[in-house]
Amino acid sequence: MKLVILDRDGTINAAGDGFIPSADDWQPLPGALEAIARLNHAGVQAVVACDQSGLGRGLFDVAALNAMHGKMHKLLTMAGGRVEAVFFCPHGPEDVCNCRLPQTGLFEQIGERYGLDLPDVRVCSSNPLHLQAGAAAGCEPHLLRPVPAADRADQADLAEPAGEASLPPALPPGTRVHADLGAFADWVIEHDALAAAAANLQAGTRHVP
Ligand SMILES: [Zn+2]
Repeated sequence: MKLVILDRDGTINAAGDGFIPSADDWQPLPGALEAIARLNHAGVQAVVACDQSGLGRGLFDVAALNAMHGKMHKLLTMAGGRVEAVFFCPHGPEDVCNCRLPQTGLFEQIGERYGLDLPDVRVCSSNPLHLQAGAAAGCEPHLLRPVPAADRADQADLAEPAGEASLPPALPPGTRVHADLGAFADWVIEHDALAAAAANLQAGTRHVP
């Protein structure tokens, strides 16, 4: 089984201002659901891992969270994709738990649930804290980098230099950077196809035309 662990806000749906309180406020990012469908069709399963401390803080309830994820699953089905499960930390900052980022509990739960070694699992997020936790648990980190201000027409006068200088700090070593979930999916599919071709060559199973 091939598995990717996806963050939610800022990875699959628009991040909003701090937290997403309702299904109406849960809006997929352009191309994100189609990216998950492409991964699925290439034999890669996806799960979501995210902090939902708004539950612990009483900002929304479990029914609202279920409605958000119901909407996500429904829209994904329409796009031809699916996520296997959503793993989340419901705790607030004052709770003592091992699943709140940047702790590694959520990722370890996922590895146990699916019987996978975490070094074989990729984690993808726009949030460096999420990647720190995933990498600390052993996963391969992939950052979705928000479009640099320099590339946004509406903020042309606030331009920052693009490239390495605009990367957020404290990324785990070896983090790969992609523009969005679509670019991540394309990278995974191409990388795995090349790896499979290389393995076939080595095994002497190449078809000679
Ligand atoms: Zn927790």
